[in-house]
Amino acid sequence: MLKVGILGSTGSVGSQTLDVIRKYKEQIKVELLGASKLSENLINQIKEFKPSYVYVENTEEKNIDDTKVLVGEDGLKQAVNLDLDLFVNAIAGIKGILPTYLLLKYNKTLATANKEAIICLGELLKDKYKKILPIDSEHSAIFQILKDRNQKEVRRIILTASGGPFVNMPAEDFENITVKQALNHPTWIMGKKITIDSATLMNKGLEVIEAHYLFSMPYEKIDVLIHPESIIHGMVEFVDGTVISNMSNPDMKIPISYALFYPERKFLSNNYLDFTKIKSLNFLKPDTEKFPLLKLAVECGKKGGVYPTVLTVADEIAVNYFLEERIKFTDIHKIILETLEKFDYNKLDSVDDVFYIIDKTINLATEIAKKYGSA
Ligand code: MN
Repeated sequence: MLKVGILGSTGSVGSQTLDVIRKYKEQIKVELLGASKLSENLINQIKEFKPSYVYVENTEEKNIDDTKVLVGEDGLKQAVNLDLDLFVNAIAGIKGILPTYLLLKYNKTLATANKEAIICLGELLKDKYKKILPIDSEHSAIFQILKDRNQKEVRRIILTASGGPFVNMPAEDFENITVKQALNHPTWIMGKKITIDSATLMNKGLEVIEAHYLFSMPYEKIDVLIHPESIIHGMVEFVDGTVISNMSNPDMKIPISYALFYPERKFLSNNYLDFTKIKSLNFLKPDTEKFPLLKLAVECGKKGGVYPTVLTVADEIAVNYFLEERIKFTDIHKIILETLEKFDYNKLDSVDDVFYIIDKTINLATEIAKKYGSA
């Protein structure tokens, strides 16, 4: 019996992880669930999966049925120290950084969908990333293809992007994009923050940095292609000209299950690709004029140091403001740019520095976002 812990269990990846586990209950036991609060959804999950522990940020409760409640930062430290076979970090955004840091520090087996942690911890933890089982679909694709291939054989890796809902919209209409339009992703079902990041293509920029660290791949060897059908999730081109691609219908349960049962593959559903129904697979170069955040993210990745962290945190603040309908879609880029320009701290030698930079960026980006909000 595989014992797993799932942090962020009520989110999009978390609940899809539980969907997969439901099919294989006699092989997997959920020992830990975690979410920000004891919502009705989380309580239902506790009643169904009966984990020994549940972690939440804040509550007065000590137990839910036979499940012990772990609370706050001390609770989190206890949770990540449990003796489990696998931890899944399905937490969305920068809240996922501390759990990933602790899990890697304690040498736990980690499957993660949280790219923010890998980007922000960056260089500091780079020796620990080899053991990570990526859930992000593109990175799962590349992981499945690369396995233990010699780096020297790889000419480049290609991350695909659906392009989001605005790939065909003229740039002059971007100012008037509504939250509802931006949340209407054409191919993937995901949480809100990442769906907005997909609409700006920031998500792909963050994924380039994520790939750089996960696979210790130089930026020169990472390419991005818009592929609206979302059938090919990632490709590796080898020096002899061979390209190996990873294909499936877009369904997060596939990379989730690959990480859960690695290296075994399991039946999930009959949602198999029908090649006779795929009329065409299209690929185009991303338009970085229309989607400046992709370019900005890669630039920040290449600069390294504090830049990827400031970029990631400023983006999360700006995206939250957009989701609350306080700023325009096009302000997201402006807020991030201004935060990067005004950021005056350049030391990044320790994990403490990372958390300090996160706090500092939250304050600065919030100040800047408020200014755009009043306009
Ligand atoms: Mn992805």
